[in-house]
Amino acid sequence: MSGQITYRAPELLINGQWRTGRHAMTVAIVNPASAETLDRLHLANHDDIAQALQAAQQGFEAWRQVPAFERCARLEKGVNKMREQMEHIATLLTLEQGKPLAEARAECAMAADLIKWYAEEARRTYGRIIPARIPNSRMQVLKQPVGPVAAFAPWNFPLVLSARKIGGALAAGCSIILKGAEETPASVAAMVACFAAEVPAGTLQLLYGVPAEVSEHLIASPIIRKVTFTGSVPVGRHLAQLAAKHLKRITLELGGHAPVIVCADADIDKTVAQMVVHKFRNAGQACLAPTRFYVDRAIEGDFMDAFIAASHKLVLGDGMDPITQMGPLASARRLAAVRDLIDRSVQAGARLHQGAAPSSGFFAPVSLLTGVTPESPVIQEEPFGPVATLTTFDGIDHALNLANQCAYGLAGYLFTDSARTILKVSDQLEVGSLAINGMGVSVPEAPFGGLKDSGYGSESGIEGMEAFLETKFTHHCA
Ligand code: NAD
Repeated sequence: MSGQITYRAPELLINGQWRTGRHAMTVAIVNPASAETLDRLHLANHDDIAQALQAAQQGFEAWRQVPAFERCARLEKGVNKMREQMEHIATLLTLEQGKPLAEARAECAMAADLIKWYAEEARRTYGRIIPARIPNSRMQVLKQPVGPVAAFAPWNFPLVLSARKIGGALAAGCSIILKGAEETPASVAAMVACFAAEVPAGTLQLLYGVPAEVSEHLIASPIIRKVTFTGSVPVGRHLAQLAAKHLKRITLELGGHAPVIVCADADIDKTVAQMVVHKFRNAGQACLAPTRFYVDRAIEGDFMDAFIAASHKLVLGDGMDPITQMGPLASARRLAAVRDLIDRSVQAGARLHQGAAPSSGFFAPVSLLTGVTPESPVIQEEPFGPVATLTTFDGIDHALNLANQCAYGLAGYLFTDSARTILKVSDQLEVGSLAINGMGVSVPEAPFGGLKDSGYGSESGIEGMEAFLETKFTHHCA
């Protein structure tokens, strides 16, 4: 019991029915602010997954017949329900994930916004007419839903990252089986419930299970025509191999290690104010989080002092406490991984500037590492926690060279007023999204996706919609 809410692990949604998973295993759902178990989650077994697959086929047959105009209206009804229930959904999210309630509300609003955008876009899935080669004939390109989708979303932004998949698939006319993250199941279930009543049974289903069992079963099934995954590089590689074996289309969003290039003409106070908020949001567990700061040597000292001062002022605590600005990491596993990365980086020569953190739960202090080299573990590996690095550069070519020496390529940030530098960095920085003098790299109407080890394919924007559509050519002669 917390505040007004009694936390309960959700059931699975299979063929329009909410019911308990029948796997022999259950997993504990833990409040990361206190390390206390909130409830136990029952997982899907082989039969549950098989049933969901059959229902997904039937759901697809029914949903694809619903005209786009009506699909849009039904999804918008779900969005309205979600907005009405925002406080409830956000509270579940904070309890199971740890982020401050204000961030949980913002995430819920963003998830609703994403599905709303996709719903509207359903009405614009245009094909085209190609001028015919012969008289009395018509050549057309049709856009059709690709079919039942298997979607895998993680625990860091469980609502937003599930919404990108649910919104795109349903707007396009596909059915979708979502495997949410077992760590954060109730908030996603509450969101899914807002839409489930608006679509035919089997169109939208929710499973929790042993991740490898669920993904292997779903991807191998001939019913599934499209796979979409957000998570880590090793799991992404594994799913890409499964998708290749069964010739399934796949979209992969696999995290990032975002460079921030701060030039000598940047407004230090404004840059630090924005980047401290962005860096430590969700305790740094964000694929687009700024992590590698490359700062012009001329302003290094001023930037570092301002960054440390602002980040050490952040109030860490339980996300349900209104004064909290940064919550705990989402799990004991993440806390151990972040500590290990910092230790190895310090052993490799980095200097650590660290704030304080509560001793309960899974809190990690804000940490800045300086004196790092391109070989340093914290540069090579995505920190996925409240950890940033600071390196100086001499000239923009040097900054680009350092920034591009990384296997990831998701988001990037640039602070300067020089048009020449903006042009150069826009052309040469190896990232899928670049924010200049700001932090907005992800909005519903723009594509979001990575280069290199950050994966392939885009979510959101018309590219995100396209990922759930098949292209068909018809040539009609009289
Ligand atoms: P992990 O590799 O154990 O799991 C990542 C996600 O994939 C989880 O949601 C998990 O449930 C799921 N998963 C694991 N095995 C799977 C399988 N065989 N089939 C389907 N899904 C599977 O990592 P973690 O400890 O949960 O998270 C740590 C790392 O994951 C981070 O360092 C970060 O790189 C990455 N991550 C990235 C994002 C992102 O937004 N791109 C989100 C969460 C985690």
